[in-house]
Amino acid sequence: MARVFSGIQPSGELHIGNYLGAVKNWVRLQDAHECIYCVVDLHAITQPYDPAGLAQRTHDMAVGLLAAGIDPARATLFVQSHVAEHSELSWILTTVTPLGELERQTQYKDKAQRQESVPAGLLAYPVLQAADIIIYKADAVPLYHATLVPVGEDQVQHLELMREIARRWNSRYAAEFFPEPQPLLTATKRVLGLDGQAKMSKSLGNTIGLLESPEAIWEKLKPAATDPARVTRKDPGNPELCNVFTIHQGFSPPEVQAEVAQKCRTAGWGCLDCKRVLADHMIAELTPIRERAAELNANPVGVRTLLREGADRARAIARRTLHGVRRHMGFLKAGED
Ligand code: SF4
Repeated sequence: MARVFSGIQPSGELHIGNYLGAVKNWVRLQDAHECIYCVVDLHAITQPYDPAGLAQRTHDMAVGLLAAGIDPARATLFVQSHVAEHSELSWILTTVTPLGELERQTQYKDKAQRQESVPAGLLAYPVLQAADIIIYKADAVPLYHATLVPVGEDQVQHLELMREIARRWNSRYAAEFFPEPQPLLTATKRVLGLDGQAKMSKSLGNTIGLLESPEAIWEKLKPAATDPARVTRKDPGNPELCNVFTIHQGFSPPEVQAEVAQKCRTAGWGCLDCKRVLADHMIAELTPIRERAAELNANPVGVRTLLREGADRARAIARRTLHGVRRHMGFLKAGED
């Protein structure tokens, strides 16, 4: 089985954009891959953040993932800072990463522009990402057995840098030691926020939380932006230009999607009718998730135990990799290590 790694920042409760864009796919991948999933809290501190809320946001993200279907019996789920080997390998990889490559990263340029003083950690973010992924090269798989990384298309640039970092370390210290992670592009469409303009983001207030009540889901969906050309109930619309239709594609079965498209193009339904159908399908899918999250939240110690067990499994792999890294780089052994 190919091994998949992916991480998500501890932004608190998941929203339907995270769910449709990544997490639903993570759940599916568990069927046919060895999956390692991580709440990447070390990445979250590269931007200004509130330390008082970090632990809670990390817990909430883990609960959301578990409730959405990440199964600790089939996947390894843990918190990045609980496996210190990520940080050690990241430092080591900075020594083979060209500064110019980091400065060229689009995401770095965008984020740096918005900050008065740019921390070095923001620049080195892709190096930590590379460490996160290549540290899980298993000893038992053949060399160059690719670790698959589920990514959105905008992450391809980062992935190419990770592959470059792995190549550089391999060429300097041990040929073919690290596999070069391959992209595993998801088929899911990118869901915009309910405003139909910007990326779905909690800070923009244009999301529906994964754990919201049926009433709250409907209240948020009612005013959501639709095809801007559909001004009155009698105007036919174009579902391909409507973000509500994109959300239908995430929650409604194919026959309902076909009916929505037909009713939209012929003005057979008003947008409110269309949203009511969507709300029903969303609520049907999200209610069991909300109920599982409530059970998990009633037992926070149980959640921490699951995360500790996940970190133990991840650390065992990470340690083996670092052992090999230290050996090839010529470090003095610690005792009988
Ligand atoms: Fe969008 Fe549905 Fe309205 Fe068509 S009918 S514009 S798909 S909300």
